[in-house]
Amino acid sequence: MTVSVSTPARPVLSRRLQQLPPSPTIAMAARGRALAKAGVRVLDLTLGEPDFDTPEHIKEAAHKAIRDGKTKYTPAGGIPELREAICQKLARENEIEYRPEETVACVGGKQALYNVLLAICDPGDEVLVPVPTWPTFADQVRLVDATPVLVRLPDDYKLRAADLEPHLTPRTRAIILNSPSNPTGAVMRPEDVRAVTELAVSRGIFLISDETYEHFLYDGARHVAPASLGPEAKAWTIEVNTVSKTYAMTGWRIGYVAARAEIAKAIDALMSQTTSNPASIAQWAAVAALSGPQDCVHAMVAEFARRRQLLVSGLQQLGYRCAWPEGAFYAYPRLPDGPDGGPGDSMAFATRLLEQAHVNTVPGSAFFDEGSLRLSYAASTAVLEEVLERWPRLG
Ligand code: PMP
Repeated sequence: MTVSVSTPARPVLSRRLQQLPPSPTIAMAARGRALAKAGVRVLDLTLGEPDFDTPEHIKEAAHKAIRDGKTKYTPAGGIPELREAICQKLARENEIEYRPEETVACVGGKQALYNVLLAICDPGDEVLVPVPTWPTFADQVRLVDATPVLVRLPDDYKLRAADLEPHLTPRTRAIILNSPSNPTGAVMRPEDVRAVTELAVSRGIFLISDETYEHFLYDGARHVAPASLGPEAKAWTIEVNTVSKTYAMTGWRIGYVAARAEIAKAIDALMSQTTSNPASIAQWAAVAALSGPQDCVHAMVAEFARRRQLLVSGLQQLGYRCAWPEGAFYAYPRLPDGPDGGPGDSMAFATRLLEQAHVNTVPGSAFFDEGSLRLSYAASTAVLEEVLERWPRLG
């Protein structure tokens, strides 16, 4: 029998997925890999992934979980031991008291964030996203049929309440905070965290606080979790975090949410109908990460601080305007202005850099910005030194 496939009357893909762009960071990384496959030595500064190995005691906890037969379904929102470890971490490091039923373990920070948006957004809701931003924030807001409202950050990339106010409408449902920030490395000032939190509480708007990079701080910068600012602040904040970066565990896929019990319970139900639990073995590894010795974190942050010093001062010496990022592990230099006096074309610059110097970076356009590039310094000192040798000098 021959089957004729006629032109479908409607597109194959749902409207939702037709609109979903692929991750620009992953797309740039793929371009670099294609060049590398052709035999070129490409220096890759695209991916936000620590190059360290997962610490030994964390790997051992996973081995033990396998040996002990902890290889079956767990409660959808995580084993009690992990939820308890999350509470203890939040009390110890962030001075916030959560109960286990106010937490839920997810499949990485990315899923944690998506689950939060599914839990609180209805179609037509608006979510404020400060830009430059990690593009996933805006794309996930669209995926849940809400509208991302891009809020331009000032030149120092530090969010203030006054930047948000003009964008608030009766439809504003949430504000996304990401301090320290991907891609700029900017850290919000404690007084701005307080003012933004007061604004959200006074209007009954959720703060979705993505604290993925909270441990990566330099030059005395301090991270303040908005939920630590009192009971009302806690009620209106949804904490999103992950073990991916802090413990060099990107492949293990454990992130978490801490929020009102009503929200945590809803996410637990959502997971029970979608992924079920995050991998049981990875959950036991995350327990070891959150409750075990933390000197591995300090050692990694100290190494990132050395690399930051090398890369940022190197770019400055080459003539680029590059602010010292107070957090995360990204440098975000300004490019020379374009011929029309406007911001330089970041995609054109990144493409030239890849094709001519074989250095791969992510253009600012990937973060709804222009005139800058993001360089991840989650790369060895030797690679960073070579990047600076290959980098075009200005002027
Ligand atoms: N939030 C931010 C700001 C990130 O940069 C990332 C990773 N790039 C994540 C969340 C997600 O991390 P994961 O899903 O690996 O836990």
